[in-house]
Amino acid sequence: MSAEIRNLLLENLQSIRDRITCSCLRAGRAVDEVTLVAVTKYAELEWIQELIQLGCRELGEARPQQLVARARSLDPEIRWHLIGHLQRNKAEDLLPIVHRIHSVDSVRLFDHLAKLSQKRERRTSILLEVNVSGESSKDGFDPVELLAVWPQLQTCESLEISGLMTMAPQTDQVESARPVFRRLRELRDQLRDAAGGRVLLPELSMGMSNDFEIGIEEGATIIRIGSSLFAGLAADV
Ligand SMILES: *Cc1c(COP(=O)(O)O)cnc(C)c1O
Repeated sequence: MSAEIRNLLLENLQSIRDRITCSCLRAGRAVDEVTLVAVTKYAELEWIQELIQLGCRELGEARPQQLVARARSLDPEIRWHLIGHLQRNKAEDLLPIVHRIHSVDSVRLFDHLAKLSQKRERRTSILLEVNVSGESSKDGFDPVELLAVWPQLQTCESLEISGLMTMAPQTDQVESARPVFRRLRELRDQLRDAAGGRVLLPELSMGMSNDFEIGIEEGATIIRIGSSLFAGLAADV
């Protein structure tokens, strides 16, 4: 059974890596500019173990408790990314374990994480989540709001603001992601200019299974892939 799982994962991984390479070529970018975060939120522990064996070291979870539980039972060398909403009361357990939080979506959460990081005397890497498309169902800063609070965020010393994250609207039209991703990149440039180069915001986390190629064409440095990595695997494989 486990050989079957490994073969499927290997095929999926290889095909995603090929598509990443093609997108980078199309966009005139180097392949090592793009980090693949394997999103394991729907995966069984056994699949994740195989994935780690295949060399995946950057894993993403949407729920803080699941991230913490899995981090404790898997290789301590894994870099864990939190990609889903974080409630403030879940932050304390998460901080010592997480490599990067992609989903800082409010000033309140930002301030809370800043305080906790300071108390622990560590610098936590975060991304600011932006609701570019303005859908009411989505978390994230409104772009205009983010520009307004930026002077107050950019001076924080206990958080390393590594960049921005967004999600494109879910539609059948893959191309509808492009203006959203482009807007995120432009917003990053605006924020970087406004900070006078003190905060460079190098990372753009944008692109999932359906739209990562567009993400890469528009400048993504991190893509978050779940379903297409585990395609063909079911709980009863
Ligand atoms: C689930 C999830 C992903 C992965 O989505 P797929 O379509 O399964 O690749 C990426 N980002 C976030 C924030 C998610 O919640």
